[in-house]
Amino acid sequence: MKIYNTLTKRLEEFVPIEENKVTMYVCGPTVYNLIHIGNARPMIVFDTFRRYMTYRGYEVDYVSNFTDVDDKIIKAANEEGVSSSEISERYIAECKKDMEGLNVMPATVHPKATEEIPEMIDMISTLIDQGYAYAASDGTVYYRTRKFSDYGKLSGKNIDELESGHRSEGHALKVSGTEDREDDLDFVLWKPKKEGEPYWKSPWCDGRPGWHIECSCMSKKYLGDTIDIHAGGEDLIFPHHENEIAQSEAANGKPFAHYWMHNGFLNIDNQKMSKSLGNFFTVRDISEKYDLQVLRFFMLSAQYRSPLNFSDALMESAKAGFERIKNAVSNLSDIEKSGADTPMTDEEKKNLEAADSFKERFNEAMDSDLNTADAISVIFELVKHANTTAKEGCSKEYAAALRKEILTLGDVMGLILETKAEVLDEDIERLIEERQQARKDKNFARADEIRDELLSKGIQLKDTREGVKWSRI
Ligand SMILES: [Zn+2]
Repeated sequence: MKIYNTLTKRLEEFVPIEENKVTMYVCGPTVYNLIHIGNARPMIVFDTFRRYMTYRGYEVDYVSNFTDVDDKIIKAANEEGVSSSEISERYIAECKKDMEGLNVMPATVHPKATEEIPEMIDMISTLIDQGYAYAASDGTVYYRTRKFSDYGKLSGKNIDELESGHRSEGHALKVSGTEDREDDLDFVLWKPKKEGEPYWKSPWCDGRPGWHIECSCMSKKYLGDTIDIHAGGEDLIFPHHENEIAQSEAANGKPFAHYWMHNGFLNIDNQKMSKSLGNFFTVRDISEKYDLQVLRFFMLSAQYRSPLNFSDALMESAKAGFERIKNAVSNLSDIEKSGADTPMTDEEKKNLEAADSFKERFNEAMDSDLNTADAISVIFELVKHANTTAKEGCSKEYAAALRKEILTLGDVMGLILETKAEVLDEDIERLIEERQQARKDKNFARADEIRDELLSKGIQLKDTREGVKWSRI
């Protein structure tokens, strides 16, 4: 698989540190509000990357954090008169609901900043010991940016440019603090508490961590000093990811991540999304109008590094496209029910082989820096192939094989193409009784049919000495 690496600015063959394993860290949201659709893009694309790598046989360790201590959280807490943990816990729960709707798998670990404070204090202490950080007189700890000679290697910015940018317009690195900071480029690792803010004890002062240090610590703790892939939105390249590299590589003395993946911006009607322009949408807003699967499908309709434009018209067209695929699956399922119980004809076998070649092309598209746009085109071609070759009267086996092919590719994209009908307990009991009767009547064909029917609805039967037991799978 080839991945565009922001660090080297090239497409590179993906070679994992450990064979068949991927260690991956994706920066997660700051939880002070419902997540917006811009937050959803990295969640969806990197979840798709994870699903694809899993499908190709890799074991993926996927860590994504929740930043649960931050100025915005504290502000929201003060406005509501509640604790900041109440705000962060509420929005972590809401974020998880949205993720479920978007069919984003839970990470292997979802660390929270407030639960990793000792690790952050440890890393900051190491940086101080090594001369990469220092505590000012008020207890603020700064990173000595200039001392890290590789600073700027991810974003392509050099120290001199940063410095002149600083003087002219006030740079992103600039933070208010005490003025015994040695250099304007130094960024904060730890800051003293203010009235009404949550704080932790530290060797320097009662206070809280700066934003960047949590990701360095969590990545190290859960995945190791050097990981395969670090990912996030392109807005994080500078200063967040640049600072993470400075912290981790100075503290660990090893490369931080081999590949850096960044998704492009999401615009709304060709404009930047912002509350002031009134074009700000949360995932929850979208869920009122669309199945969130449509939003997922829409986000994957572009390659992840391209900017993506969101508009009503484009969402409508995503909806129509997504439904076209779902309809094909449901037609195949109907044909499967009514189709001929005969072996596949030669023609069907040939058509199925043709369908297999779509799978190869799908893999090629995904191997090419996760080109989900091309992968979706291949799914559409497969759908077209299914619609023209699987007709009333074709063999059940053929319809079933095609349905499985589409579902497999849909699953790699995290798209739910089939909704399992809700089966009521009483229906299950009735079918089990009917099956028992069929067995008594030695009508084993009917008994097996019922077993299969239940299985297709996600109900597994087990014949035990105490009778038939069933469970949902
Ligand atoms: Zn991060």
